[in-house]
Amino acid sequence: MDKQPSLILERYSTRVIAIGFGLVVALMLALVVFSLSRLSAISSALDNVADEHNNHAASAYTMYDVSRERAFLLYNITFDTDPFSRDEKIQQFYNLGAAFGEARTKLRASELVSAEKKMLEEQGIFTSVTMNLQQEVVDLVAADRMAEASHLLQAKAIPAQARAFEVINAFFQFQVQETRDMVAAAAKLEKSAQAYMLMGGAAAIALAVLIAVFVSRSMSDLMLRLSGTKVRLEESVEDLEFQKQALDEHAIVSIADALGQITYVNEKFCQVSQYSVEELLGQDHRILNSGFHPKEFFAVLWKTITSGKVWHGEVCNRKKNGDLYWVETTVRPVLDASGKPCQYVTIRTEITRIKEAELVLQRGKEELENLVSERTAELREREELLGLITSSAHDAIVMVDDSGVLTYWNEAADKIFGYPREEAVGKNFLALIVPPQSGYREKYEAGLNQLATAESGHTGEAVELEIVRKDGAECFVELSLSSVQIRGRWHGIGIARDITDRKRAEEQLKLQATTDALTGIANRRQFDVVFEMEMRRADRHHLPLAVMIVDIDHFKQVNDVYGHQVGDNVLVELTRLISKTIRAHDFFARWGGEEFVILSPGSDAESMRLLAEKLRVAVEMHDFPNISRVTCSFGLAEYCTGDSAENFVGRADAGLYRAKENGRNRVEMA
Ligand code: GH3
Ligand code: MG
Ligand code: MG
Repeated sequence: MDKQPSLILERYSTRVIAIGFGLVVALMLALVVFSLSRLSAISSALDNVADEHNNHAASAYTMYDVSRERAFLLYNITFDTDPFSRDEKIQQFYNLGAAFGEARTKLRASELVSAEKKMLEEQGIFTSVTMNLQQEVVDLVAADRMAEASHLLQAKAIPAQARAFEVINAFFQFQVQETRDMVAAAAKLEKSAQAYMLMGGAAAIALAVLIAVFVSRSMSDLMLRLSGTKVRLEESVEDLEFQKQALDEHAIVSIADALGQITYVNEKFCQVSQYSVEELLGQDHRILNSGFHPKEFFAVLWKTITSGKVWHGEVCNRKKNGDLYWVETTVRPVLDASGKPCQYVTIRTEITRIKEAELVLQRGKEELENLVSERTAELREREELLGLITSSAHDAIVMVDDSGVLTYWNEAADKIFGYPREEAVGKNFLALIVPPQSGYREKYEAGLNQLATAESGHTGEAVELEIVRKDGAECFVELSLSSVQIRGRWHGIGIARDITDRKRAEEQLKLQATTDALTGIANRRQFDVVFEMEMRRADRHHLPLAVMIVDIDHFKQVNDVYGHQVGDNVLVELTRLISKTIRAHDFFARWGGEEFVILSPGSDAESMRLLAEKLRVAVEMHDFPNISRVTCSFGLAEYCTGDSAENFVGRADAGLYRAKENGRNRVEMA
């Protein structure tokens, strides 16, 4: 982490130094170029000006020199006595005049400032005056008028010449002065160029100093950081040394070159593999190959690490003595500057024991899994079997939890209770099948609660329940409930059988056993039961009880005259007539043949006699179909405490006998 800022700072400082020095060099160069260009411009300008002035001065000097020569020559001419020599000198005099003219023409042709032009004009005037005077002198000499010539020369020509000289001299002086001015200006410019160079140099030095200060500061900061980094690196080296020691103690370390040849192994490596360092160095790791792994395993490993990636895995190796051992292995490639692996560092940890434990565990796990899958298959088979049994069972099989809510419902339950499984499961069992108005709900609930508090495995007695199906039909089921505990919770398993048909048949049988088939009233057997019961009650409560036997008079004749069917009809009609005449609590039964019996609880002999009389009249008055009249005889008896049934009925029978004897259609009491 610390390496990064140091590197950045280092790069940054190097760049700053480079830029700083670049700037200084550039500034110096610019100054030099600027100053040199300035100086060169000044120098060439000065050169031009100087050349100009030199040319002007040279021309002026020629003019001055030629004029002076002409003046001397004219003087010689004037005083020369030899005519030949004089002519020769006159010729020279003209030649000089021509040379003067050339010099002047050249001067005029050059670039002149206005002052120069003015001086040259002035000189022209003076020179022309002088030259005219000189020509006059020459002409006088030619005419040999030497005295006049000498006079003209001295009096006019020489003074004129002197004035002309003055002008040329002034011109000359002007040039000298101008050149001096130029030199002064050049010196001034040179000084300013020097000043620029000095200033620039000073600025460059100042900049260089600034950069140097900045760089030295940056460098000192960098040095500080570098020294910090160095300290940390030293600490890291210590840590690494420590880690290496720790690794050497616990881990199997080896280093291989790019070709996979071992270049380093630690002690632990030798200890575990039983090979010496000498035996291992220069070998590749195939020396440890156990043959446990397929070739592809190592192909993948090699491919991974040669592509510069780290490989992790568990490897089974072989010791020198042939024993196998397991190592958890990490192979880390060391990459060179081009990013290619140049070394492979391998760290292994021996995991033979763990591996053995794992194998044992694995075996155990496999065995367990096999067992579980076997058991699961068995369970599934059993479940399927159970499903088949319960679904093919004719009895409803239901299951309720401890709050009476249905948790299981088989197909037969659908048929018996009329509710499909999806509608029934989750509902309260009793609420579903026992209507609240039936009056049984509380009773059944109490029974169910009693079972719920019973121990697991307790089987309650089979109970018959009157239930209402979904379609509203009333049915009977025989329900046997057992309680089971599943994961600590009570469950009731109910097996219900539809007993409606049986129940109806039973009722039918019961009815048949207690009623008379022809008339539909109670038969003699039922009468005997009720008779006994009522006698006990009369005894218990000291209530009166009376009995009456009714016998149709001359019934045999009815059969004989009208046929047995009409006789049957009379029996049925008489039953109806008596039934609607007696009181609700009177018990009416067929005693046998054409005899009937009426038991009247709470009635004494007198009230029984009134009833009998009422019946006698009703029968007598009744219009029986097909036959006009039927009469009956009545024998009565009142119960006396301690009476036997035989005794009690016997007395009534005796009353009947007497009624028959006394002419029939009568009521008689014993
Ligand atoms: P009385 O009692 O007045 O002395 O004369 P009776 O003719 O009624 O007496 P009896 O006991 O001799 O006759 C009874 C007759 O009742 C005989 C039988 O034919 C007739 N009988 C008995 N049971 C039935 C029956 O179920 N149906 C018909 N049609 N007749 C019956
Ligand atoms: Mg009879
Ligand atoms: Mg009779």
